[in-house]
Amino acid sequence: MEVDVLIVGGGPAGLSAALILGRCHRKALLCDEGHQRNMASHAIHGLLGREGRSPAAFLEEARQELTRYKSVSLRGTRVTGITPIGNEFEFVCADGTTGIASKVLLATGLVDELPELAGIEPLYGVSVHHCLYCDGFEYAGKPVAAFGKGDKGAELAIMMKHWMADVVACSGGTEVSAQATLKLKAQGIPLRLEPIDNLEGTNGELTRIVFQSGPDLPRAGLFFSTGCHQASDLSKSLGCKRGAKGSVVTDPDTDETSVPGVYVAGDMSRDVLLVAVAIAEGAQAAVAINKAFLRRDGFCE
Ligand SMILES: Cc1cc2nc3c(=O)[nH]c(=O)nc-3n(C[C@H](O)[C@H](O)[C@H](O)COP(=O)(O)OP(=O)(O)OC[C@H]3O[C@@H](n4cnc5c(N)ncnc54)[C@H](O)[C@@H]3O)c2cc1C
Repeated sequence: MEVDVLIVGGGPAGLSAALILGRCHRKALLCDEGHQRNMASHAIHGLLGREGRSPAAFLEEARQELTRYKSVSLRGTRVTGITPIGNEFEFVCADGTTGIASKVLLATGLVDELPELAGIEPLYGVSVHHCLYCDGFEYAGKPVAAFGKGDKGAELAIMMKHWMADVVACSGGTEVSAQATLKLKAQGIPLRLEPIDNLEGTNGELTRIVFQSGPDLPRAGLFFSTGCHQASDLSKSLGCKRGAKGSVVTDPDTDETSVPGVYVAGDMSRDVLLVAVAIAEGAQAAVAINKAFLRRDGFCE
């Protein structure tokens, strides 16, 4: 199969790029393994025009919109290898699809590192969250906890005070510096240093935090500060230069990575990690790619 653009990843960034490329009559193949980062969540917040839509419904709607563009095709598979050959790229997918692409857009997203807390899985995305911009608003007036090891939980708790009045910082049995403890005191935020035994809840709603010692803490929500990493090694194996926090460095003028013909968009660029930004970055990369084709074909300077 020969395509103008191979898009790797079918989250908001990849789908947005596919839409713009389709509208530019570019032959694009989008391959998606289907582990979009927010699939544990029930509702997308902060997305203009789509407030509260479930991630699954949003993606389905976006995929449906793409059916109008006959030059765009979608495959539910993992891209396992991309090799530069001259000015093009040879690619291989887990389902046996192989082909040649003139350009590659990586929109492979990130994977969150969940804190190791017993009972977290059924609560994650419903009442246990990592992003205040995504879910903080819904907890105004409710009792919440901030979890993070060392000073991380304390720093998060202080920030959360802007969104919620009743915040307790939990360090999960790790030490918190004297300086951070003083800051918590100044903000009137209690600190629980004891190791957490488990999180209790029903139907995804957190009800209490159970500590290995000391009284339980009734809470309606918990925000955590851990970390995340790239979902795919493709940018690494292609030799794209990386910057701080594992981001992929791009040229501000061409939006290209250090490997000519390879572009990135969405969370993997590690700019602001929101659906709205992923959509915008996907569109921006698609425009940059189309401009590169227009230049190549003598339609513009
Ligand atoms: C629990 C949770 C809740 C969130 N809530 C909100 C919210 O309310 N509002 C908001 O704006 N943002 C929210 N976010 C952030 C939002 O999910 C991301 O900003 C957004 O999904 C980024 O889109 P993306 O396209 O860059 O990556 P993703 O949506 O993660 O999509 C990347 C896709 O690429 C695929 N992929 C990876 N490697 C390969 C490969 N080699 N081959 C093929 N496919 C591959 C993945 O499987 C995945 O399907 C939330 C995040 C989480 C974790």
